[in-house]
Amino acid sequence: MIPAAFGYERPATLEEALILLARHGEGARILSGGHSLLPVLKARLAHPGVLIDIGRIPALSGITRTAGGLRIGALTTHYEVESSPLVREACPLLAEAAGRIGDVQVRNRGTIGGSASHADPAADYPAALLALEAVLVASSPDGTRGIPAADFFTGPYENALKPGEILTAVEVASSPAGSGGAYLKAAQQASGFAICGVAALVTLSGGSIASAKIGVTGVATPAYRARKAEEALAGKPASPESLRAAAALAAEGVDPLDDFHASAEFRVQLAKVYTERALAEALRRAKG
Ligand SMILES: Cc1cc2nc3c(=O)[nH]c(=O)nc-3n(C[C@H](O)[C@H](O)[C@H](O)COP(=O)(O)OP(=O)(O)OC[C@H]3O[C@@H](n4cnc5c(N)ncnc54)[C@H](O)[C@@H]3O)c2cc1C
Repeated sequence: MIPAAFGYERPATLEEALILLARHGEGARILSGGHSLLPVLKARLAHPGVLIDIGRIPALSGITRTAGGLRIGALTTHYEVESSPLVREACPLLAEAAGRIGDVQVRNRGTIGGSASHADPAADYPAALLALEAVLVASSPDGTRGIPAADFFTGPYENALKPGEILTAVEVASSPAGSGGAYLKAAQQASGFAICGVAALVTLSGGSIASAKIGVTGVATPAYRARKAEEALAGKPASPESLRAAAALAAEGVDPLDDFHASAEFRVQLAKVYTERALAEALRRAKG
């Protein structure tokens, strides 16, 4: 299908982009990789008057070290995250999640900022960003603020950005010594999107689990932290029995999605099974 007519702006700097966004207001949409927005426009599910293409603003791309971790520019593609030596070393869980998105073409164009902003309930990044307690950095003419991932995803295709804000970066802490992470998903076979995706980050202390952080995508909306399962693991021995007991709580208290891809009951079962598997793999990696 052909999208409805729209205007097109291509700012060269973030400041210019923010001015354009303020000028066009609700009628404008930010364009990054276009791999979610263009299908939406073609299906005529949105009719923005103008697209503000931020794709050529160099300051929004790239991965740099910070005091405690990494800053990943919003325009950094999934492929760049997947293949970055910095991400693989400091935050391998994020690289693994990026590598599970779509296919090579999608990963070469789609961006971490676009994926997070689109907030698809079946997207891969949200699970990893939640487990890693990432901070999403938003800029507006009033300044910059950090939004914890747990507050960023607010509903299906909804995020915590305010009108006039652009997501400019994602900040993640380096995974601590003695930790291991894993991202596993049951993918919808045609699209590759997650029917259930689980990101787990386990930190060991001696033979026990000091902490476990678990992000789940695809099962409910928005993506969520499986906090009951996390609590059940804190201080427990790193044993298969502990993992199984905790994983049984992976969908506790959530309202599971129920659609033609998978029933609510099936999704809950997937959440338990994939949480146990992701925890086991994370544990194996934590042990080195
Ligand atoms: C065939 C196919 C398969 C896919 N499979 C998967 C998959 O398996 N897993 C998965 O997670 N995803 C999948 N995707 C989606 C893909 O990851 C998209 O790249 C991503 O969702 C959007 O990123 P983008 O840079 O293309 O954003 P765009 O499409 O440009 O924008 C998406 C939305 O976010 C807004 N936006 C973009 N950037 C910003 C910003 N910096 N600040 C504020 N708002 C912004 C836009 O206005 C728009 O509303 C797939 C896509 C396709 C086409």
